[in-house]
Amino acid sequence: MKLLVTGGAGYVGSVCAARLVEAGHEVTVVDDLTTGHADAVPPGATFVEGDLAEVAPTLLADGFDGVLHFAAKSLVGESMQDPAKYWNGNVLTSLQLLDAMREHGTPRLVFSSTAATYGEPDQVPILETAPTRPTNTYGATKLAIDHAITSYAKAHGLAAVSLRYFNVAGAYGPYGERHTTETHLIPIVLQVAMGTREALSIYGDDYPTPDGTCVRDYIHVLDLAEAHLLALSHTVEGEHQIYNLGTGTGFSNREVVETCRAVTGHPIPATYAPRRAGDPATLVASADAAAEKLGWKPERTDLHTIVSDAWEFTRSRA
Ligand code: UDP
Repeated sequence: MKLLVTGGAGYVGSVCAARLVEAGHEVTVVDDLTTGHADAVPPGATFVEGDLAEVAPTLLADGFDGVLHFAAKSLVGESMQDPAKYWNGNVLTSLQLLDAMREHGTPRLVFSSTAATYGEPDQVPILETAPTRPTNTYGATKLAIDHAITSYAKAHGLAAVSLRYFNVAGAYGPYGERHTTETHLIPIVLQVAMGTREALSIYGDDYPTPDGTCVRDYIHVLDLAEAHLLALSHTVEGEHQIYNLGTGTGFSNREVVETCRAVTGHPIPATYAPRRAGDPATLVASADAAAEKLGWKPERTDLHTIVSDAWEFTRSRA
């Protein structure tokens, strides 16, 4: 298929773009490089640097079979301090993309949604039917886009799939996580192991979890990419399907740090700090729907594998 990958110079976008190219698709990446890296665009993809809302109408006029929409602002803390950046950058831009798709008859969309659309869950594992009550602006903007996609699917026949990611980690060869502002646990721990950060603060040790630290569902970025390829081939005209992507297994922050110590051989000094605002105690996906409807089965569910791949990538960039 001829595909437009928005945000394809970012972490998840670059891994997916690489896999799409490898699977034989004709890929154009559009990215404004505010957080992405030009050298993360896989060879074999055409790269257009620019503002998505500005370039999408011209690009899509060329006739595309589908769009994979990764481009987004994704820092939870920043979204609370500067909501306009998120409502404009995520929601407004996505609406402009949807309109450009409609205008030019682009039939399919795979959208990067997030577990943050659910907020604090009443029940874990979290099903796709769980209430959506985001606790931060980032999650609220992603949920708003999901709602818009549902309306466009109903009204205009768009074939869409939203994938709600839980905690993405790991790397795929030269494609991995390298944010200038890093807030995620595994890359931060690996920075300590690399010696570029002194110590780790573990936010909260008094949660109602087995060891008192938060529990998260880590999914390998390559398994995530495979889900996008499957989603693309399972879109149905006029339908908006929504799937959680996680492994169904949770690891505590303490277990993550222990695994990073084992993988890196570094002591990784860590201290407990107060809870981080808005952090739910436990976020674990039910991925049964993705398994059943998309035939998706994550294969790299072992935390040791996920951290080892991230560590190899981190060292290769040093
Ligand atoms: N976390 C931590 N120290 C850090 C960064 C994160 O203890 O320096 C914790 C965070 O409070 C949460 C877990 O690690 O309990 C996962 O956070 P992350 O930001 O990686 O992903 P999130 O679950 O918020 O999407």
